[in-house]
Amino acid sequence: MTECDLGPFPDANGFSEAVTLDEADPLSGFRERYHVADPDLIYLDGNSLGRLPRAVLPRLQALVVDEWGDGLIRSWNERWWNLQVAIGDRLAPLIGASPGEVLISDSTSVNLYKLAMAALGITESRRRIVTDDANFPTDLYVLRGVAEAMGGSLDVVATKGSGSPMADLEAVLDESSALLSLSSTEFKSGYTHDIGEMTALAHRVGTPVLWDLSHSAGVMPVELDASGADMAVGCTYKYLNGGPGAPAFLYVRQDLQESLASPIPGWWGHAEPFAFDLDYRPADGIRKFHTGTMPILSLVAMEAGISDVTEAGIDRIRAKSVSLTKFFIRQWEEHLAPLGFSLASPLDPERRGSHVSLSHSEAWPIDRALIEIGMVIPDFRAPDNLRFGLAPLYNTHLEVHTAVQRIRSIVTTGAHARFAGEKLTVT
Ligand SMILES: *Cc1c(COP(=O)(O)O)cnc(C)c1O
Repeated sequence: MTECDLGPFPDANGFSEAVTLDEADPLSGFRERYHVADPDLIYLDGNSLGRLPRAVLPRLQALVVDEWGDGLIRSWNERWWNLQVAIGDRLAPLIGASPGEVLISDSTSVNLYKLAMAALGITESRRRIVTDDANFPTDLYVLRGVAEAMGGSLDVVATKGSGSPMADLEAVLDESSALLSLSSTEFKSGYTHDIGEMTALAHRVGTPVLWDLSHSAGVMPVELDASGADMAVGCTYKYLNGGPGAPAFLYVRQDLQESLASPIPGWWGHAEPFAFDLDYRPADGIRKFHTGTMPILSLVAMEAGISDVTEAGIDRIRAKSVSLTKFFIRQWEEHLAPLGFSLASPLDPERRGSHVSLSHSEAWPIDRALIEIGMVIPDFRAPDNLRFGLAPLYNTHLEVHTAVQRIRSIVTTGAHARFAGEKLTVT
């Protein structure tokens, strides 16, 4: 199927606008660095699992054969031991952090646990953790677990759809709040917080803030140091293209590192792991938040994605992301709103991340039909949400245009009706 099959060609419906925008795109050269097996398949799920950078395969080949195969245990000293700190330092500028403030470690969920526990370790009588109901479920589960373990409580503020989460959160933050933890960009709506303003709001009542940057890192500028943020965690397998299950990152502001203690004091966070001391002594700085042996294959696989984002430049990436989401929204208004799709993401590009959510009463069968016969991969978030992740390093305006035309064809012909069956495990 090509765009020619699906409507007037070549000019109506924003086709020529898409072509013009792509021609002027300074990042267009990056797409060929990614593995694209079938150019007709439009992948709009880079906010869940980024595409494979082609540089990964030769790098992994060398790692497996030369470093693991030939080097054996010698490679720990020669290559591997410091990688998670070195890669953390390379990631740091992308989130407005300084060297020594970012560590690659564990998963986002585990890092959230470690930092939330550490934060409650120094808040004395404060025991109330505050979050909101637009946060990612794993964050809610982890924060509730931390609150319970520390004899506290979790306050889940209803902000969803309110359009003014600042005011909702301000109303509940007070001197009893031990920690505020939020997703910088919400996984469903794509609403993106002003990290500086929200952090300042919490600091006014002495509450530290723990940000989850999973849907922001690698796709928009984040200024952790400049905004006074305290702690942060995030994924590397979304817009950073680190690969399925790639290790996550954590950030602790320099001047906080001394006072926080890791709740999982593993040997990799010890000052001298190979002293095999029976007593735990934390390493200096960010290293104390290590737990155990890192998955080196996954760690090495994530390097290419981080260097692409660095080379492309986070400001240029953001500019293209805004252009893609704006174009998508204009196309939605013209072609999809009349078919029962409503916009579930902010209209204001300042407050929008890099995915656009549409809700529709038949979102699930439409999602299945798009994947099975439309050659478009979005994702589905229950109960009625279709998410379209726009990844500036490899998505184009023309893909957005074509995807909208395919959605329109499926819904106007009713082709999705036969996909109303069973849910899959991963949606
Ligand atoms: C994707 C995502 C996660 C995933 O956490 P894992 O531990 O990697 O499974 C967590 N939080 C947010 C906000 C996310 O978007």
